[in-house]
Amino acid sequence: MNSNSQLNTYTDLVSDPELRFRKFFDFNTKIEIDPKYNIEKYIRSGRQILRMADVYFSEHDYLHAFILYSRFAVLYGHCLKTHPEYSKCNKADILEINRELNTIVFPKAEKLKLYIKEIFSNEAKEHQRMLAEQKIIDKLNNNEQEKNKILAQNEHEFNNFKENLINDIVSDIGQSSNSKYNFRKIILPNDSIDKFLEKAYANTMQNVETCGILAGQLTQNKFFISHVVIPKQKGTSDTCSTQNENELCQVIDQNNLITLGWIHTHPSQTAFLSSIDLHTHYGYQLMIPEAIAIVCAPSYNQNSIFVLNPDGFKEISQCGLSGFHPHSKIPQLFEVKKNFFQLFLIKFLNIYF
Ligand SMILES: [Zn+2]
Ligand SMILES: [Zn+2]
Repeated sequence: MNSNSQLNTYTDLVSDPELRFRKFFDFNTKIEIDPKYNIEKYIRSGRQILRMADVYFSEHDYLHAFILYSRFAVLYGHCLKTHPEYSKCNKADILEINRELNTIVFPKAEKLKLYIKEIFSNEAKEHQRMLAEQKIIDKLNNNEQEKNKILAQNEHEFNNFKENLINDIVSDIGQSSNSKYNFRKIILPNDSIDKFLEKAYANTMQNVETCGILAGQLTQNKFFISHVVIPKQKGTSDTCSTQNENELCQVIDQNNLITLGWIHTHPSQTAFLSSIDLHTHYGYQLMIPEAIAIVCAPSYNQNSIFVLNPDGFKEISQCGLSGFHPHSKIPQLFEVKKNFFQLFLIKFLNIYF
């Protein structure tokens, strides 16, 4: 999109608050169900979406709260019904989702909708006022030099305003194509990897992988990883799988946490994401686009943090293979994240050890 068409879009949107709201809503509730992804996992992640929405709501960040309540409504009130396993899922879960939709999500989303529409409508009035003012200034300023100066200043203000608006509209909660530029920050305690490696030591000595789930809280639009949950698991020299997902989920829920990624060891290999790891990680990023994968390779003294980039996310979503298999290397399917360590202590919730 060139800058001119962006400008036109902006002008159209800001002066038409109804249209702006519709576009804003459509953009943020564009959800596609992955029919290959386990429906139980979709159902379980609903609680985490609500937890995050409630945090935004309590912090008076009504724009983000509205986006999440709306996404919940669209995902669980509509999209999930198109999943091929919908008719087979637990009736109690469906009743619970409907209860949440009717008692929490719809009433809150409806209130927030009015609030956001009012903001858009006020901004439209402000925009009209600016345009009218501009006309008067144009008339009054016969002096060419003075006129140019004011125009330049107005353009600067206009650009700032436009940038803020576009940031709002492209505010990414979900799988938008440019979401990698709008990821919310994840803060990871700097002792988490060493402590995890201590827990994994016995397995590592036997050349067996260990995995843990990274979980934490959402505060002021940032994610803080505060816990590593070590689930019941089965490891080999190059794989590791969790054994009782329900139990794992209970621990996450009881501690009011949000799943933010996972960590695992490669006892005798380097730190990379195998094809199986890429598919595992896809499941995490499907629910939280910012979710990270940490791979620790103690025998190479190497620890890396990965996220799937948009190309990788797309490729894995379309790949129907399982077990170890090749993926395209160009473009690279993941990005290595660095520099987001912060000093505070991680807590371990052990199911297994
Ligand atoms: Zn691995
Ligand atoms: Zn694959």
